[in-house]
Amino acid sequence: MKAVRYHGPELPFALEEVPKPVAGAGEVLVEVKAAALCHTELHFADGTLNLGVKPITMGHEAAGVIVAVGEGVPAERVGERVIVYYYVGCGDCRWCAAGEEALCDKLQAEFGFISDGGLAQFLKAPARNAVPLPDKLSFEAAAPIGCGVTTAVHAVRLAGVTPGDWAAVYGVNGVGFGLVQLLKHRGAKVIAITRSEARRAKAKELGAEVVIDATDATTVAAAVRAATGGAGCDIIFECVGRRETMDACVGWAGALGKRGRLVMVGYTAGDAHEFRYHPIPMVVYEQRVLGSVGASLGDLKEAVELVASGAVSTVVDSVIPLADFQQGLDKIKACDCLGKVVCLPCA
Ligand SMILES: [Zn+2]
Ligand SMILES: [Zn+2]
Repeated sequence: MKAVRYHGPELPFALEEVPKPVAGAGEVLVEVKAAALCHTELHFADGTLNLGVKPITMGHEAAGVIVAVGEGVPAERVGERVIVYYYVGCGDCRWCAAGEEALCDKLQAEFGFISDGGLAQFLKAPARNAVPLPDKLSFEAAAPIGCGVTTAVHAVRLAGVTPGDWAAVYGVNGVGFGLVQLLKHRGAKVIAITRSEARRAKAKELGAEVVIDATDATTVAAAVRAATGGAGCDIIFECVGRRETMDACVGWAGALGKRGRLVMVGYTAGDAHEFRYHPIPMVVYEQRVLGSVGASLGDLKEAVELVASGAVSTVVDSVIPLADFQQGLDKIKACDCLGKVVCLPCA
């Protein structure tokens, strides 16, 4: 079968022929009908993320059809339309017991990170990782739920949003469009901050109350303060993680208000983009800074329900054959996409 393979940092990804996986005991084999590209792939390509496992197949946002099951899995699952949850925890550490597999102490697999992922024609996974998709969701629309929407669901759960909160999303595309809609759905007043005019327009269409042009990051904090009556935000989801975007959030006149929560979702390579914050304003304003990674299986199930109910929709920029994945990644790198780029491995 064809798969997009990673051979280590600084090396180009390659579309290669690899053996088709076989579902083992307790596993299902999924024929991948659609797999979304994520900024994470760029982090692998440029060495920002180097987890030391190679070669592997990339891709952690895959939807498809179960075509075979291993021992112990009901044969009736063959033919089921599913989306794949990409973490496989050990099942017995305290994090797994709490349903937070993304924090597992002895992670068994993480598709597209430390094990073979979904940018391929087939993907095998434990049966419990294959979450049923309603018939009305197309595979192309469903694939970006896998990371784009689940990451938003998880981050909002950690941040604890209250109706009426001012919530900003700094950096709006895959996860960002999910955040804008989910925050709106939870009753927050949403501010979308991005340099892209097209993304601002889309965020507005999806329910953002205020949109702010971030072309000059030094103007963002004042614009947020003005929009919130001087108070600043109750929550900011930082999906960019550059020095200037993080700087805009914090400090005496930053975009984050009193008791505000700054949620780190995105990051950028290099020492120049380390987070820096003097504790005095943080102490005086009683602010909190937290990180958010991935999602739980429960978050994925919730994300599928949110999309199925229409509360959140995935935003798809383009649908391309798997063979054109590099063009898709180049588009993401150039910030030249409105939403997610989805690959069709079987086209
Ligand atoms: Zn565990
Ligand atoms: Zn992702």
